[in-house]
Amino acid sequence: MIDVAVIGAGPAGSATALALVRAGIGRVVLIDQPKRRPFSIGESCAPDVVAKMQQLGFNAEPGQQGHTPYHANVSCWGGVHQTDDFLHRLAGQGWHLDRQRFDRQLLQQAVEHGAELIQPAKVRSIGSCTDGWQLQLNQGDQTSMLNCRYLVDASGRSNAVTKHLHVKRERLDNLMALAWTLPDGSPLRGRTLVESMPHGWWYATCLPDGKALVSLMSDADLMPSLKEPQCLRNWWRQSSQLSHWLPVTDDTNIQPTAFAAHAGFIKQAAGPGWIAVGDALASFDPLTSSGISNALGDALAARDVILPWLAQGDLTPAESYAERMNRSIKRYMSEWWQQYQRERRWSKQAFWQRRQLGSE
Ligand SMILES: Cc1cc2nc3c(=O)[nH]c(=O)nc-3n(C[C@H](O)[C@H](O)[C@H](O)COP(=O)(O)OP(=O)(O)OC[C@H]3O[C@@H](n4cnc5c(N)ncnc54)[C@H](O)[C@@H]3O)c2cc1C
Repeated sequence: MIDVAVIGAGPAGSATALALVRAGIGRVVLIDQPKRRPFSIGESCAPDVVAKMQQLGFNAEPGQQGHTPYHANVSCWGGVHQTDDFLHRLAGQGWHLDRQRFDRQLLQQAVEHGAELIQPAKVRSIGSCTDGWQLQLNQGDQTSMLNCRYLVDASGRSNAVTKHLHVKRERLDNLMALAWTLPDGSPLRGRTLVESMPHGWWYATCLPDGKALVSLMSDADLMPSLKEPQCLRNWWRQSSQLSHWLPVTDDTNIQPTAFAAHAGFIKQAAGPGWIAVGDALASFDPLTSSGISNALGDALAARDVILPWLAQGDLTPAESYAERMNRSIKRYMSEWWQQYQRERRWSKQAFWQRRQLGSE
């Protein structure tokens, strides 16, 4: 019998599996259906990520693993230009992740420490059985069944586990990202740029491979009128910071890929024999740059819920886990709201109006 089945081998799933096998749990299985995408958004990670990696026993030095140091945010928000250099916060540097590599490294660590991997495999259905759960998996044309004592939902926004348990997800917005890469991102090396515009905001950075990543964040219903390359080029020209750091010309090749970026959270974080971690638990506006850090933090907290449940069916730590999530949602909502109040230039535009309702 499998002790724990972790659904999803993104950062949250691999980190949870790693934490569990390192804590001595016998059989931990990671089940993953990899996403197919032309490229990954290059995540900016705040300095605290390295400490969490160390707590997980993932001691790889990011600089030697293909990730690049990130030391400042350049922004233009509410008409105010700012550079926030991490040096002034004495918190150390952050990292620009080569996301595919990071996911691979974390998964490899989990497997090296004893987690079993079933990939590609998609969870089709979940039912309860005498000692826990029975999963139906699809692997290509094959269907198989797998029994486990405990289930971890680490499947991101798709909530592959909790949707079968009828746990509701509250959606907070309809944010989407249109992102593309350019051959040279070197002017932004070590920096992340954020700039508001009438229909959302820009995010740009230099990826570890030296390419630039440019992304426009807006609401899904506003995207049809923004997504044409000529329209994106025009808005890019009108930007102050983005066009300064990454100048746009008529020849700039814009081939946007759409990414879901909506914020939301599930109404119950854990229950008897199951828990949710990472984006499956709560996904926040990318403005916070907190997804990876939260995923690693959830993995550590989930370990402390799963061990007592497997040992003696103790559900008390799950209640603390739920309270922890409630606190972070409250903190997020308050910081998110304050951040969007700082931009008052386009209060009549739908994107900003939706985020400023009730502010006056
Ligand atoms: C545009 C954008 C920009 C972002 N920028 C940043 C940033 O700068 N910094 C930052 O820290 N975070 C950022 N994030 C957030 C970050 O990407 C996520 O928080 C992070 O990927 C969450 O990791 P996860 O493991 O929870 O989920 P995912 O990375 O989504 O992993 C889930 C895994 O589960 C698999 N899966 C799904 N359904 C099934 C199923 N039925 N069966 C089997 N497997 C399944 C998926 O294929 C995937 O492999 C950004 C997000 C977006 C959208």
